[in-house]
Amino acid sequence: MGGSVPAGLAVEVTDHTARMRGTDHSPPRCAALTGRVGDRTACGIYEWRPSPCREFEEGSDACTRARQRHGLPPVAGAD
Ligand code: SF4
Repeated sequence: MGGSVPAGLAVEVTDHTARMRGTDHSPPRCAALTGRVGDRTACGIYEWRPSPCREFEEGSDACTRARQRHGLPPVAGAD
């Protein structure tokens, strides 16, 4: 929990954890995501994004797996 996500975009899961609204939908889509996946996207609350988003590394294995789920290749230049 970053503690500064705008009200209404986070959903409390337990007393100590929360998730971004929309991330439990099928298919998942964070309510703060703007644009179209595979074309052009951005985080609508970039300055206030929660800690998991700040820790997520572009080009990491998790990044590659997430991109694969959308039919996208790994980030160019990533191993
Ligand atoms: S970086 Fe922004 S759009 Fe992406 S999951 Fe986090 S809050 Fe949502």
